[in-house]
Amino acid sequence: MKNKIQDKMFLEIRNKEIFNQVQHYSFEYLERVFDRNVYPTEEALNDLSIFDEEFPFDSTNAKSVIEQLNKYGSPATTATLGGRYFGFVCGSAVPVGLAAKNLGTYWDQAPAMNVLSPIGSKLESLVEKWLVDLFNLPQNTSAGFVSGTSTANLCGLAAARYRILQSNHWDINEKGLRNSPKIRIVTGKQAHSTVLKAIVVLGLGKENIEWVDVDKQGRIIPESIPELDENTILILQAGNVNSGAFDDFEIICEKAKKANTWVHIDGAFGLWAQAVSELKYLTKGIENASSWAVDGHKTLNTPYDCGIILCSDQEAMTSALHMSGSYMVESTERDGMFYTPEMSRRARIIELWSIMKYLGKNGIDEMILTMHQRAKQFAEEIVKIKGCYVENDIVFNQVIVRCDSDKITEQVLRNIQILRECWLGGSIWSGKKVLRVSICSWATTENDITKSVKSFKKALELAITNTNTSNR
Ligand SMILES: *Cc1c(COP(=O)(O)O)cnc(C)c1O
Repeated sequence: MKNKIQDKMFLEIRNKEIFNQVQHYSFEYLERVFDRNVYPTEEALNDLSIFDEEFPFDSTNAKSVIEQLNKYGSPATTATLGGRYFGFVCGSAVPVGLAAKNLGTYWDQAPAMNVLSPIGSKLESLVEKWLVDLFNLPQNTSAGFVSGTSTANLCGLAAARYRILQSNHWDINEKGLRNSPKIRIVTGKQAHSTVLKAIVVLGLGKENIEWVDVDKQGRIIPESIPELDENTILILQAGNVNSGAFDDFEIICEKAKKANTWVHIDGAFGLWAQAVSELKYLTKGIENASSWAVDGHKTLNTPYDCGIILCSDQEAMTSALHMSGSYMVESTERDGMFYTPEMSRRARIIELWSIMKYLGKNGIDEMILTMHQRAKQFAEEIVKIKGCYVENDIVFNQVIVRCDSDKITEQVLRNIQILRECWLGGSIWSGKKVLRVSICSWATTENDITKSVKSFKKALELAITNTNTSNR
């Protein structure tokens, strides 16, 4: 039998048509994404129904696959890459990172083992050193390159769990959790949901959390932390997901160190303050923790998915995540799989390295400081609108905005989303409905802020008109 599908695929490689097509489409996308509507139009959303079809029987034309994807997929993307996407804490992508990722796509590397990807392994070892230096962490700190902070939190807490039980002569890997010595967990009432998820997945149980009160900005109140000991994991936060606030690491980590307590810092977007001379006062004292979770894809603006777990206890980390098999090839160089839960994973290090190499320390400093300045600009401009209030101190890149009532806030949110000139989400802060603005893109200009504030104003006017009409 003639191998038709193989011939067909070799032909795709030889005639390059789909690859040229993709390049053309991606340039087109990049040209528009900074100016277009931030959220897909109704039409684009409706058109997604084109994808509803039965799984095809026969192989189809490659060009038509790419055409469909571009024609209906591209307009149904959110413009997180642009300068007016303020939802969640997202981050754009530094251009050189997109280009490098594109090259890496064709390489299709899995840096599980050195022999699987010498280049991946080389860059991971190098960037590990760069990050330890940039964040000013203990020299023996190791890095694992994972999909995001959700996984990084899981890895950090798994290392903590391993170490604490090991100190109690309990090998978690052999014995499991049943009847194991108790691990105490202390964290703030504003801990991120992914921290709770990690606690759940690790079998530590939410009921066992000793919750610490937080202040108005969402920071742990140091005096409210219970007595710490060597069987405790204390989880702190660099960058509250609403207010951007940072726990007081200097005081808390010092205290924890004396008690021999494992401190894990969830620094998804905030750990990067350490890379900015004007903002590094926020992260003072982080070097006294034991593990740190941080994203590349938020503040540093690497493409998705890029998270990092940093841990000063390499033995605990690799023991917690280690796997072995008779066919594995361990090398004297770095084998990435010892530092991550996965064996196979894509070589996200390619983008991370290229962006760090491209920006350098000064470029990172400037890029992140600019985000901070834009957040301050936003806060300054928004309070000039009657009926808009800023609810947090702008220490980093987050702005919390409230209107005169929950009802108006809600309507403003809906109107902003309908207007599509910028995009942001809502939250609850101090018991009130609020709008969250996260400025996390290299591409956000002063003009983007002004334009977005105008959209806010329009949205508020519409909301007030609406409320007045419905009250009649
Ligand atoms: C975004 C975020 C996370 C989760 O990170 P992912 O990269 O989305 O997995 C955890 N903690 C904080 C504070 C965050 O902002």
